[in-house]
Amino acid sequence: MPLEEYRKKRDFTRSPEPRGGAGESTGRIFVVHEHHATRLHYDLRLEMGGVLRSWAVPKEPPVEEGIKRLAIQTEDHPVEYAGFEGTIPEGMYGAGTVKTWDKGEFILEEEADKELLFELKGKKLTGRYALIKTKFKGKDSWLFFKRK
Ligand code: MN
Repeated sequence: MPLEEYRKKRDFTRSPEPRGGAGESTGRIFVVHEHHATRLHYDLRLEMGGVLRSWAVPKEPPVEEGIKRLAIQTEDHPVEYAGFEGTIPEGMYGAGTVKTWDKGEFILEEEADKELLFELKGKKLTGRYALIKTKFKGKDSWLFFKRK
């Protein structure tokens, strides 16, 4: 069930976040949310297979080559989440303010179990990027960086 984990973690009677439909697609998009939760982080979301595959990036995403960022994969989010900004109430999962840090076109180039190669056409993130699985911090950790 896509989005099962996403929905299980949230109470939509109290959170302003979208519940999400069944894989409604709006095209190839990416968004990076600036999430002022317990700890500020950035949520990278790529539209793939009718959902937004998501990674929490503890530091600012790389705008140039030579910077590798840890990215922890989190639950898939509904496509509608790309348009979400708001405040998740205290006591709820992900409590804090969510703002759009960057958004634009996402073009998938290669997809494998441990590697995603893609192009981003945003305002801050623009060019060819990669997400490569690493064992650095457990099974959900990836490295996110800009390619040559
Ligand atoms: Mn987050």
